[in-house]
Amino acid sequence: MTDWNGRLLNDKPLSPYTWFRVGGPAKRLATPYDEAALSELLAATEGPVLAIGVGSNLLVRDGGIDGTVIRLGRGFNQITVGGNRIHAGSAALDAKVATAAADAGIAGLEFLRGVPGTIGGAVRMNAGCYGTETGDRLISARVALRDGTIRTYENADLGFGYRHCGLPDDAVVIGATFAGTADDPAAIHDRMGTLMQNREAAQPIRDKTGGSTFRNPPGESAWKLVDAAGCRGLTVGGAQMSEKHCNFMINTGDATAADLETLGETIRQRVRETSGHDLHWEIKRIGNPELHT
Ligand SMILES: Cc1cc2nc3c(=O)[nH]c(=O)nc-3n(C[C@H](O)[C@H](O)[C@H](O)COP(=O)(O)OP(=O)(O)OC[C@H]3O[C@@H](n4cnc5c(N)ncnc54)[C@H](O)[C@@H]3O)c2cc1C
Repeated sequence: MTDWNGRLLNDKPLSPYTWFRVGGPAKRLATPYDEAALSELLAATEGPVLAIGVGSNLLVRDGGIDGTVIRLGRGFNQITVGGNRIHAGSAALDAKVATAAADAGIAGLEFLRGVPGTIGGAVRMNAGCYGTETGDRLISARVALRDGTIRTYENADLGFGYRHCGLPDDAVVIGATFAGTADDPAAIHDRMGTLMQNREAAQPIRDKTGGSTFRNPPGESAWKLVDAAGCRGLTVGGAQMSEKHCNFMINTGDATAADLETLGETIRQRVRETSGHDLHWEIKRIGNPELHT
């Protein structure tokens, strides 16, 4: 990979790249600057690869990651509008895409204003809120596969489910096209403003958090089960279950990834004992508990 158009760093700590601000180093952190560089990287790389966005749904364990972590940035964050469609690179922030859609009079993407991740993360997680999910508005996604080939997937081929998409774990989303409906930009902005006020009132969005910790079991709310198990405000080391929204974990300052994971597992056990429900993690936990030397 001589003259590769990107940046490669070895043993790069990942904590600054996650909302929780915890986690060990990536053996290799790769930032390709364009699609050709991404393809070249994938074709030339041995061992595991994993794309990350802005780490708003990630708990990177303290021992870090033994493979290549790919972080898309410059070259992958363009947003273009045509008619009622909007195309966004996978590094574009969801909030910017929502705002661009509103400015262009495209309704239906307001929900993205409240998700603090990137378009790549939104596709992977089928992110959603207030009744709309990414898969409800997505037309197609452009994706790089593990061998470096690039494919466009139509919505029906992406296997969207609750906070899930059926792409292989090592696929890298490059960008996505969404469709909305025509509306007055001021009305769309108003709806987004209301959504953000509700969110600010209900969630600890200014803390070091990873969003919802557990998936909602069918017909249940995870936060209600956590509350009923007496776990609101529960702490382990520097990790705490938020008092404001008890399905959000917080790093209160000096938490380790182990503190956060132990807190989550303690809560799972207490919920099992109290209500019989087996909560499943929504936050993606990746990497090794301890550093391999
Ligand atoms: C305060 C707060 C509020 C939140 N509210 C919501 C909410 O209302 N609804 C909701 O759904 N989520 C919510 N989340 C969770 C999170 O924002 C979403 O899951 C978001 O889609 C993650 O995007 P990201 O770019 O941060 O991805 P990351 O956290 O970096 O990664 C998440 C997953 O996506 C994969 N991924 C990321 N980028 C790519 C890519 N380019 N190609 C392939 N895979 C990729 C990663 O491998 C990982 O598996 C919230 C989080 C926080 C901190």
